[in-house]
Amino acid sequence: MIKINNVLILAGTHGNELSGIYIDKLIRENVYNVQRSTFTSSSKLVNLKAIECATRYIETDLNREFSSKENDEIANSHEKLLSHKFIAENVQQDDQGNNQLLIDLHNTTSNMGATLILLSNDPFYKKMGAYVKQQMPEANILFEDEKSWEKQAYLCTAAKFGVMIEVGAQAHGSLQHSTLLLMQKMLSAVLDYVEQSNLNELDSLKDYDAFYFTEEVAIPLDQDGLRNAMVHPAICGKDFEVVKQGEPLLITLQGEEIVRVDAPETYPHFINESAYCKKHIAMALADKRLVVIE
Ligand SMILES: [Zn+2]
Repeated sequence: MIKINNVLILAGTHGNELSGIYIDKLIRENVYNVQRSTFTSSSKLVNLKAIECATRYIETDLNREFSSKENDEIANSHEKLLSHKFIAENVQQDDQGNNQLLIDLHNTTSNMGATLILLSNDPFYKKMGAYVKQQMPEANILFEDEKSWEKQAYLCTAAKFGVMIEVGAQAHGSLQHSTLLLMQKMLSAVLDYVEQSNLNELDSLKDYDAFYFTEEVAIPLDQDGLRNAMVHPAICGKDFEVVKQGEPLLITLQGEEIVRVDAPETYPHFINESAYCKKHIAMALADKRLVVIE
């Protein structure tokens, strides 16, 4: 059995995603309680310079700087240096018997509601998804477990255990009450899960439907790097709703439907995420599968 002894709640990894930044404020002011009996917990703002500038990042995306392999756009970017500093100052070494969980809080401009992103299909995470889904039937559980833990570039993988909470739709730089409450609800459910798991009191978890990331959909560009197409209007705002075989994902500027689904069904999410603007990514796709709790 895994016993987590420290939880570090992170916000401002992206400096313009405000829900987490204000949850951190509520935690520091003792308005929102993250204490439980079986582990220590605290919160931290990560990219202070990006928060001050109200921008996602200064030079490179901090949430892509934690892979063990070096393939940096800018070798010594503000965020690359910050990633080293973050690990040195905050990550507990597991060879000393520490089991630290990082919970990284994010917003999306996509209509994804409260989504728990799990980067491993191990029983600890499958059960976390089950517990959160039971407390919060409206939650989406998204597994992005196609890479090993070491190859994951997300900040929350800097420690032995980590998850992301992604809540939207909320425009970056804005703060909505409903989004703040959804994020608090999911964060509380994750903390309660860790407490129950530590106490070995998880005995009534049920199987549930979850999404498994498959691929990203690139927007086709012309010779000048401008877009030839956009998200099809039939799926705008419909994150995690099924798109069936033969149905289109994109539409050209001239109104021609393109990029049809060839699998029996797929589940788009991060639809029209504004942070993916520079990369010209229209959306990500997932399969829906039943997660069986053993
Ligand atoms: Zn983010």
